Amino acid sequence: MQQRLPVLVCPNTECQTRIVLPYRTLQGTPKLEWYWPTDSETVALVCHNCGLLSVHSSDALRDLSVQAEDPRLLPSVFWRVTLSCSQRNCGFPIVAYIRTEEGLSHVEIGHRVYISGPSCAAGHPADPEGHVEEILRVESLGNGGWLT
Ligand SMILES: [Zn+2]
Ligand SMILES: [Zn+2]
Repeated sequence: MQQRLPVLVCPNTECQTRIVLPYRTLQGTPKLEWYWPTDSETVALVCHNCGLLSVHSSDALRDLSVQAEDPRLLPSVFWRVTLSCSQRNCGFPIVAYIRTEEGLSHVEIGHRVYISGPSCAAGHPADPEGHVEEILRVESLGNGGWLT
């Protein structure tokens, strides 16, 4: 089945992996609604193919027609990862998103985000010990919004 899905594209010209945001169909309509954080206008996204971290605003979203069962939509799990800032008293969290395959430990997921070199809103790098504050699996709660 062809579906138009909300996609962010990796800006690495040799990669250009299409990363699909979590989405759901509104009940009784063909309309899609997709995930976007409520606490930020941008999404910091780690490409699951090349590992590049890039920041996207919602106007970078494309809707692309893809096969719903297209293997390029994999890996299947979308995570919101919060790392600690390296400056103890900074207070800005470091939030990034990544798609992974199923079955990874939180430590592995946190590491994939850490090695992409994310920084907090003040520009500090993540805590070198790779301390992960929070990892949430972004999933639709039906009509109740998003679990984040
Ligand atoms: Zn990439
Ligand atoms: Zn900081």
